[in-house]
Amino acid sequence: MEKRELLYSGKAKSVYTTDDPDYMVLEFRNDTSAFDGKKVEQLDRKGRINNLFNAFIMQKLSDAGIPTHFEKLLSDNEALVKKLDMIPLECVVRNLAAGSLVRRLGVEEGKELNPPTFELFLKNDALGDPMVNESHAATFGWASEAQIARMKELTFKVNEILKQMFLDGDMLLVDYKLEFGVFNGEVTLGDEFSPDGCRLWDKNTREKMDKDRFRQGLGGVVEGYEEAARRLGMDI
Ligand code: ADP
Ligand code: UDP
Repeated sequence: MEKRELLYSGKAKSVYTTDDPDYMVLEFRNDTSAFDGKKVEQLDRKGRINNLFNAFIMQKLSDAGIPTHFEKLLSDNEALVKKLDMIPLECVVRNLAAGSLVRRLGVEEGKELNPPTFELFLKNDALGDPMVNESHAATFGWASEAQIARMKELTFKVNEILKQMFLDGDMLLVDYKLEFGVFNGEVTLGDEFSPDGCRLWDKNTREKMDKDRFRQGLGGVVEGYEEAARRLGMDI
């Protein structure tokens, strides 16, 4: 597989074409951003840990029957993935209240959410990724009703798999964001699963091990990600 030209450079990853139109290379950079790109920093080893973390999780999800774009690791900072026709929605599941849910509804941070919530956000930086609902998605043509139903089903299935996996490493999976696309007509998990796009707390101390360390200026950001990886049994 030959890496060809840069297709797109996002806030944290760059996407390259390959000699096969069905595949592309994702390059995980050290750029770390928050607050719609208003806070940006380069964090040493962040691209590497997110690439390795994502590969580990995607492999586990594939093994459990989730269709994912992940093919293989190419290097410390690159992975080969299937090129999806991306659905411009972020699917968020929450097991414990945090972040925008706390700000929006005034519930206490850490409150257990039973059953877990499912939310959709439109991927649109200019609008600040507004929360939308299934009716909006169908009306504006972002996804069909069947695709939304499948994304929701897969997002909850991912929760069952990952909640337990993190718990086995004494971590709480507080919430996370998934992005899907379509490959050969099938709704397929794309983008990444890493501590950049989820919240992970130590089960006992509730210490944050995710991007909230960056958002809140707590320091030890990459160290937190690496600790989470080690607790999952990754050899990093
Ligand atoms: P953003 O675009 O939000 O700044 P990134 O820096 O992570 O985010 O850029 C990666 C881009 O690649 C995202 O827009 C994401 O939707 C897209 N993407 C991720 N996986 C795939 C895939 N398998 N096929 C096509 N596009 C993808
Ligand atoms: N998230 C993300 N990308 C986004 C928005 C949210 O990865 O553009 C993740 C975020 O890291 C968290 C979950 O989705 O794990 C829920 O985020 P929330 O709605 O609480 O927003 P935030 O507090 O990050 O503004």
